[in-house]
Amino acid sequence: MKYIASIDQGTTSTRCIIFDRKGNIVSVGQKEHEQIYPKPGWVEHNSEEIWKNTLEVIAKARIEKSIKTEDVAACGITNQRETTVVWNKRTGKAYYNAIVWQDTRVDDTVKALSKSHGSQFFQDRTGLPLATYFSGLKIKWILDNVPGVREDAEKGNAIFGNMDTFLIWHLTGGVNGGLHITDVTNASRTQLMNLKTMAWDTELAEIMNIPLQMLPTIEPSSKIYGNITSEVLQGIPLAGDLGDQQAALVGQTCYQPGEAKNTYGTGCFMLMNTGTELVPSKHGLLTTVAYQFDGQPVHYALEGSVAIAGALVQWLRDNLGIIQKSTDIEKLAKSVEDNGGAYVVPAFSGLYAPYWKSSARGVIAGLTRYVNKGHIARAVLEATAYQTKDVLDAMESDSGIEISSLRVDGGMVVNELLMQFQSDMLKVPVIRPTMIETTALGAAYAAGLAVGFWQNFDDLIQNWGVDKRWKPNMKAQQRNTLYKGWKKAVKRSFDWEK
Ligand code: ADP
Repeated sequence: MKYIASIDQGTTSTRCIIFDRKGNIVSVGQKEHEQIYPKPGWVEHNSEEIWKNTLEVIAKARIEKSIKTEDVAACGITNQRETTVVWNKRTGKAYYNAIVWQDTRVDDTVKALSKSHGSQFFQDRTGLPLATYFSGLKIKWILDNVPGVREDAEKGNAIFGNMDTFLIWHLTGGVNGGLHITDVTNASRTQLMNLKTMAWDTELAEIMNIPLQMLPTIEPSSKIYGNITSEVLQGIPLAGDLGDQQAALVGQTCYQPGEAKNTYGTGCFMLMNTGTELVPSKHGLLTTVAYQFDGQPVHYALEGSVAIAGALVQWLRDNLGIIQKSTDIEKLAKSVEDNGGAYVVPAFSGLYAPYWKSSARGVIAGLTRYVNKGHIARAVLEATAYQTKDVLDAMESDSGIEISSLRVDGGMVVNELLMQFQSDMLKVPVIRPTMIETTALGAAYAAGLAVGFWQNFDDLIQNWGVDKRWKPNMKAQQRNTLYKGWKKAVKRSFDWEK
């Protein structure tokens, strides 16, 4: 057998990538899905559309290179995390659109629970501060607001899943007995799993008023879960499941404690492997599960989550129309020397790490008559680099480890201006590997290890290679002045919704 298939169900699109043993891409199928914004702060996806797209992109990837089922050793899956679907297991129909991770509709519940229990209570058990970000309160919203769901959940018919669970259920039979499972990494983002025991926390479920029977069974990230029954990959073992950011950590081969990666997609997510040790954060990071390979202990990570990175580029394109394509931003940003004093703080979904301010909203600060669209383009790119610096500083403080270089991946790392500025801000080299589709690759690795397609981590580490390295090249004074401006702008975004 020559290949592993990987399904990457992302925030903006769904991909199927077929990899060979060297971790090279053999073929790709990809399709974007609709972003639904019913109200300010609300973000939804149509789960049925995503399921259809999944089948379509698998077929596309196979047809493109005439890949036979018998050449595919296993299939792995990775997904946008936290995004929440509740559906009926008898009919297969979702009760409501998928509520996307960026959605802030549960803000009032966050405030109420912060008052009654305190954010620390939740962080101690789950590694996560109380925030709109995670799945638990999104499930609660559906149960409380969509007629009939709670009754069906109590009867055992309405079940919950993140996108991994939803797709696995469909791929393994759906209404005819599909598997209702998730993996430890996805479960660690629901704010319902106890991070020490890897089991659903009954007290947390009670506080959020969520019937336990609607939650999936928690499995390791790499294990043969069952066989696919859908025609596009019929009979292939489904053998890997990881949340997208954890998958990127695996794809970047960060298997040693202290190794870190940063993924620049819709949002921006830095994860550092902390080994089998659970490191609580004192500086606004999340403690989360990194991965668990079958029969091995759980590995943990510290994570700095930034909600809006590439999404700000999309906003410039779709909402302001300043650019036509995301890639146009680099040329526009290069048309000026610097940001002209302007800063954009993209607190569209509040601010995540390290601030965790759900009541923050976006600001553009430092405007003068001098500022033009080139400066704004530059400020948009710089926002991602400053947010990454915020997170890296927190990461070093929490872990006590100084990061000597940063491995990067995701859709934005094609932007050379951003990569150079990032290195300048962090004062360390930024390294882009030859393979930047690390999310899909990580899920392929998980599936391939489970079926013996790859034997061990050494096989995977051999596949990793450097494409380009950016070295810091900015005077300390300039760096400090720029970063100070950012910090001032961030303060302006706080407490807007109060
Ligand atoms: P996700 O997996 O979260 O859907 P991707 O890793 O596919 O995201 O990255 C897509 C993001 O990268 C989009 O938000 C897009 O605006 C941004 N992007 C793509 N090309 C560029 C570019 N040349 N410069 C800056 N941002 C870019």
